[in-house]
Amino acid sequence: MRKLFLFILATLTLVGCSKQPRLEDECLYSSSETRFCFWSPVAEQMELRLYDDAQTDEATIYSLKKDKYDFWHVSVKSDLAGKYYTIRSCQNGEWGAESPGIFAKAVSVNGLRGAVVDLSATNPAGWQDDQRPAMTDPTDIVVYETHLRDFTMSPASGIEHKGKFLSLTEQGTTTPDGLATGIDHLKELGITHLQILPMFDYGSIDETTLASGNYNWGYDPINYNAPEGGYSTDPYNPACRITEAKQMIQALHKAGIRVIMDVVYNHTYNVAGCALGRVVPQYFYRLNADGTYANGSGCGNETASDHEMMRRFMVESVCYWAREYHVDGFRFDLMGIHDQETMRQIRAALDNIDPTILTYGEGWAAMAPAYPYDSLAMKQWTYKMPRVGAFSDDIRNALIGSPFDHERGFASGNTASRQALCFGLAGGINYHDNEFGDGWSGEPMQHVSYITCHDNYCLRDRIEVSAAEETEETKLRMNKLAQTAVLVSQGMTFIYGGEELYRTKRGIDNSYQSPDSINIIPWENKLQYNNLYEYYRQMIQIRRDHRGFRLGSAELVNKHLDFLPTQTESLVAFRLKDLESIDTAKSIVVLLNGSNEPVEAMFPMGEYVVLADNAQASAAGLTTISAMQHTVAPYSATILAEK
Ligand code: CA
Repeated sequence: MRKLFLFILATLTLVGCSKQPRLEDECLYSSSETRFCFWSPVAEQMELRLYDDAQTDEATIYSLKKDKYDFWHVSVKSDLAGKYYTIRSCQNGEWGAESPGIFAKAVSVNGLRGAVVDLSATNPAGWQDDQRPAMTDPTDIVVYETHLRDFTMSPASGIEHKGKFLSLTEQGTTTPDGLATGIDHLKELGITHLQILPMFDYGSIDETTLASGNYNWGYDPINYNAPEGGYSTDPYNPACRITEAKQMIQALHKAGIRVIMDVVYNHTYNVAGCALGRVVPQYFYRLNADGTYANGSGCGNETASDHEMMRRFMVESVCYWAREYHVDGFRFDLMGIHDQETMRQIRAALDNIDPTILTYGEGWAAMAPAYPYDSLAMKQWTYKMPRVGAFSDDIRNALIGSPFDHERGFASGNTASRQALCFGLAGGINYHDNEFGDGWSGEPMQHVSYITCHDNYCLRDRIEVSAAEETEETKLRMNKLAQTAVLVSQGMTFIYGGEELYRTKRGIDNSYQSPDSINIIPWENKLQYNNLYEYYRQMIQIRRDHRGFRLGSAELVNKHLDFLPTQTESLVAFRLKDLESIDTAKSIVVLLNGSNEPVEAMFPMGEYVVLADNAQASAAGLTTISAMQHTVAPYSATILAEK
């Protein structure tokens, strides 16, 4: 019996060994042995170069052996913690350049070498108790997008670890006026998810000259699976950035805020200098017929998610961040470059970890990708990728105008976009036989309602370029009206960080490498424009208080949402009806006036709590009325909740 048991065990072990390795298992550390494993079907030989530190050229070289799956293996039986490594391979008789491999989880300064790190030792105290904050439905969320430097570099932030992961662990920080900043500000504002611009290791900031204070958004990946060194307090210590990124996520979770990572799998910083370009040349990218690199990203290359191992790389990478760092969601940069099947597989893999992890992205590309359009994860095909969302340029352009011109939108007086606004308010679904256009989202959670993000003008600047002649008071009314429309829409809602503090980027619509002085959030405005801030805060609370704005399914939107007839194109009016069983209000009436004149609106007679009116908002109610008509003030929203 015992012999049989041992035989079975040995057989199982053999079967286990013969499984195809995971791409992410490039460097598996234990105190007695580190196993290395890298995929390459084209290498004739592969070597591992082990270094005592990040600078030395003296390496101990190990030769790797290939298995039947084209993975190359070597095991070093000693405690390698603190060592560094690279690999290089020989192809057509020539040795290529060194790289840390495609899945390095810990790296040296500037990501040049892989680092052997005991990942379990990078966990901050209490990490085993870290939990994702509760979340019921994706349409409940309010995303706040920011860059770590934008959010913290201002002297008025009162934050110590400016521009670092640790900035978001600091409690009790305030402006000189004593108003909350940092993580306390996010709690006070009431957002549910923080979307952070790229925090993986990117290439455009030299981590050895951080004191120079250079700024970049970071859409230039070097190592996809290690945090960016520039956001750590010590980029020379490979474990430091890992621990500090986890500390940030832990602190946000404790504050009730989930974390969304901005991932950029669609291109790499460059080809020759990046592991994806070096380890298996050309394989991870799409090529043009003439052998040049396709460029749907507009950044010099586009990756090939349709290639089996690139797809596996993306699936394993997001799962790694979700498991190791407890990341709660992923925003895919230029998602339209990826194929739909990859997005579906990512969704399925994340569902195995936690179905509440969010997935959404930009359903477009910078230029035409080198792959059949019908199979790409473009916005138009969002409904074919259940529970993957796409940013709605429909509602954005409808409200404030297209980024390709300086025209006004509905919120600044252009009624031409009225229909597209209604389409967005309904969450981009097939609404009442496509009354406002063909739905591209299968469910409202697939429609990311937003007006501004890091790209293009921020809201204040957008209104400035399209409505410069208006008074500041009018511009502030337009600002509030536009953001109100986002927050009463049926999609997942998204706000660009700093809009609530009336940020300006001084007319710069692409601030990817502008200095901090352009990109920082002006914390001092929290006092000066407190009325605007308070309006945003109340509107977020109003959304969160009322399920009517978050019906959550196309079926319920079709059932409960009615657009009301109006006497002027400048008014969009809708009513959320029959809410008794799901909301504290019996019905909700929303009136959006996109003109500089007061307009009369009609709606069913009732006793209403006025939640917003004449550019003021209060979740507790401004006043109550018993009415069937109301005068909506110029450029403003009225929201009535029936008692
Ligand atoms: Ca870096």
